[in-house]
Amino acid sequence: MSAESRSIGKVFLVGAGPGDPGLLTLRGRECLAQADFVLYDQLVSHQILAMAPATAEKQGVRELAECHPDRWPHIHVRMIEEAQLGRCVVRLKGGDPMIFGRGGEEALALREAGIPYEIVPGVTAALAAGACLEIPLTHRSLASAVAFITGHEHPGKPSSRLDWKAIAAFPGTLVLYMGFSRLNSILPELVRHGMDPTTPAAAVTRASSGDQRSVTATIATLDAEIRAAGLTTPALVLIGPVVGLRPALSWFESRPLLGRHILVTRPRHQATDLLHELAQLGATPELLPAIDIREPTNMAAFDEAIERVAAGKFAWLIFTSANGVSRFFDRLFLSGRDIRALGHIKLAAIGSATAAELRKLHLDPDIAPAEGMNSEHLADELTTKVDGQHVLLAQAEEGRELLRERLAMCCKLETVAVYRQVEAIDPQAESFNRLRRGEIDDVIVTSPNIARTLLNACDATILERLRRGQIRMVSSNPRTSATVREFGIETILESASPTMESVVECLTQNTPTG
Ligand code: SAH
Repeated sequence: MSAESRSIGKVFLVGAGPGDPGLLTLRGRECLAQADFVLYDQLVSHQILAMAPATAEKQGVRELAECHPDRWPHIHVRMIEEAQLGRCVVRLKGGDPMIFGRGGEEALALREAGIPYEIVPGVTAALAAGACLEIPLTHRSLASAVAFITGHEHPGKPSSRLDWKAIAAFPGTLVLYMGFSRLNSILPELVRHGMDPTTPAAAVTRASSGDQRSVTATIATLDAEIRAAGLTTPALVLIGPVVGLRPALSWFESRPLLGRHILVTRPRHQATDLLHELAQLGATPELLPAIDIREPTNMAAFDEAIERVAAGKFAWLIFTSANGVSRFFDRLFLSGRDIRALGHIKLAAIGSATAAELRKLHLDPDIAPAEGMNSEHLADELTTKVDGQHVLLAQAEEGRELLRERLAMCCKLETVAVYRQVEAIDPQAESFNRLRRGEIDDVIVTSPNIARTLLNACDATILERLRRGQIRMVSSNPRTSATVREFGIETILESASPTMESVVECLTQNTPTG
């Protein structure tokens, strides 16, 4: 569905869910993937927006010229105009489009304008709150019904469309959306109409996100509890006997990294698994790639090395990083060869991530670190095995001299640069702004180069916070920690081994719960 076509486009009213990007539906993701234009609500997460193509135009409804309530017609006009240009429009809404989301009005406007549309449901906030607090919204003996209620209207107002007497008598669970600032009149109104003041009630802010916070009380005490805990919007209130079933800590709230905002500084293509793992443990991960991987300066030398590997000139091929492996084979395949070009060459991998990258290609390295083996032992084994033979070392342009020097003493060594690292910090990145605003708890650095690039980009305030340990530095190996110390930062959490699993384990073991 590209913008090229002049025929009329289509609008997808998509529910983005309650916050956690994992709770977007598969259909929602499909729609986003083909969007030319995305018109999104305030509460939609940036990870979900990032599922639209980079070329898609994205606009927040807050940026539309007119303000509430007049901006609603503007939303309609904007969607219709874009669809008339033949574009694929995704109107991305928090939660579900048809629950307090004006999805019905937007669909009607599209219908009247003759624009084709589809409505994709989303997980509404009440369902996320039920799951994440472990409060069943219905229950065989406690609640046979559930009501979603807007607390937007002041209960005292004669114009209120809600019958609070009927609501107080409702035989089931009440879920109050948008009622946070009016609880001091809504809750007494329920009691006035006969609801038991000891009825259990809970409030939850940002349900399903890494910033979820909640309190449990009764309808008589909830307002005071919320204020004491300092909960803010967007928040929901759940009322009814089922709230009493809530465990002290739900599965969601017992996750070890809940509430932590963690900055990941690896290159984007190497950060995906780590970001995912941190999010699964409850953290809010933020990506700020400090470096990027590019072609080496001397491509002719790289190509020549590939030619000579294919001609069987080397007995050994040694890789020192996962990037080295992927760059080498990308280029090999691009030259029209396949894996057989390697012939009987022996392969060595320095580091377990390097070995894992080779195994992805179904290549089992002849030398790779065994469990618990340090790089010193590995180098010993390597030098014995390659003794006197013709060896190609494929590494980064700015690769370490140490290994090269050791090998040069015992074999016929040639070195080729298969990639180059460049500094990639975007000073305008939102994740960098979060670091500046003091909203980051931990910063993960996984190489000296990454650490140096990041710390050089940090202003004095950030560096001071790092020195005081207010922002915690997490390093994956001793060399990286040494670089961090050069900046006067002594409080460093260092993982037992350089793998990302070990980094995550180090974080979870050293983060106080609750
Ligand atoms: N269409 C949305 C609701 C929009 S009204 C849905 O289906 O969820 C906006 C209100 O929803 C907020 O004022 C708040 O009461 C509630 N809300 C939305 N996301 C929430 C979240 N993650 N946690 C708690 N409440 C949320």
